[in-house]
Amino acid sequence: MHDPHSLMFITKRPDVEMVSGKGSWLEDNNGKHYLDFMQGWAVNCLGHSNPGMISALETQARKVINPSPAFYNQPMIALADLLTKHSCFDKVFFANSGAEANEGAIKLARKWGQVHKNSAYEIITFDHSFHGRTIATMSASGKPGWDTMFAPQVPGFPKADLNDLASVEKLINEKTVAVMVEPVQGEGGVIPATPEFMKALRELTTQKGILLIVDEVQAGCGRTGRLFAYQLFDVEPDIMTLGKGIGGGVPLSALLCTDAVACFVPGDQGGTYNGNPLMTAVGVSVIEQLTAPGFLEEVRAKGEYLQQKLLHLSQKHHLVGERGEGLLRALILDRDIGPDLVEKARTNNPIGLLINSPRPNLLRFMPALNVSRDEIDQMIDMLDELIHQAPK
Ligand SMILES: *Cc1c(COP(=O)(O)O)cnc(C)c1O
Repeated sequence: MHDPHSLMFITKRPDVEMVSGKGSWLEDNNGKHYLDFMQGWAVNCLGHSNPGMISALETQARKVINPSPAFYNQPMIALADLLTKHSCFDKVFFANSGAEANEGAIKLARKWGQVHKNSAYEIITFDHSFHGRTIATMSASGKPGWDTMFAPQVPGFPKADLNDLASVEKLINEKTVAVMVEPVQGEGGVIPATPEFMKALRELTTQKGILLIVDEVQAGCGRTGRLFAYQLFDVEPDIMTLGKGIGGGVPLSALLCTDAVACFVPGDQGGTYNGNPLMTAVGVSVIEQLTAPGFLEEVRAKGEYLQQKLLHLSQKHHLVGERGEGLLRALILDRDIGPDLVEKARTNNPIGLLINSPRPNLLRFMPALNVSRDEIDQMIDMLDELIHQAPK
């Protein structure tokens, strides 16, 4: 292995390099294979090395990689058309990461407040939410401990409790411009918003004349079995952000809004790579595959399949249960063995398993949306054995 000492130390990584991937499988430099139920944290929605994405990348790279954001390009327009056609939104801005899309959403809401709401700027967010790692999106996030990290925070993000409408209502005042919510809290431990809450939240925000922003960076792009997670609830938000799955593994994100909210004027928003055709060409391939006939039905069916298997595992080992939407699911353990199971799964021989533990008593599953039932069975069998061997 190469000496990694020149890399800034930001996380502990195992002593291997990943060299190739195909579908639900990754291979390291020792030739060991891993069944990947993490997929870059719900990023590779079509698995590793998806042929459609490769073809889009190759074709676009031969045409033009970066004409500059000062000009239109065909993939940027095609992807914006696809996203507006399949959603309740009218306008799209492309960026490179979820955090950057959320920064754009925060700026757009504050701009809208300046124009329409007497410069109201407060955006109500939720405890245990995750919106990114820039200073503003860390301030918006409700991750324990993040309120003092890199202090001072960006002001203007009071925190409510998910699925508790009264806690939101209490925070609304003349300075409030929006509520920002993850339809399923991902990093917080796969906690879905309830349909009753989302419906009531839409009614409340409409009645108070403030915006509803959905952060679908993790839950969007087919992950829940709907193309967009807000479609689970029969509500129409004003602003939505997408990331992770929209690029299927390449850095791409998007900020979407309705015509009524699109109030940026030239100079307000931009970015060197916004609408880059190499990335948006991949986005077109991803969205076309997700919206192909039958694809999302299969995601829902496999989500139910995974749910049944996890429930069975939970009953067998007397665990607490499972929860989630579609193929974003969590197994709730009866003790804090999550990180230990993650480590044992990865180092398992001859085949490793990649899963994640956002909380010590929880395992999270974010497989490729085209994962096979056979791969789900293999994952469950490995997990069954690992839980069986875990210390009581
Ligand atoms: C991952 C995530 C982000 C941040 O995305 P990055 O691409 O890492 O900046 C924001 N919101 C949610 C809900 C996420 O899951």
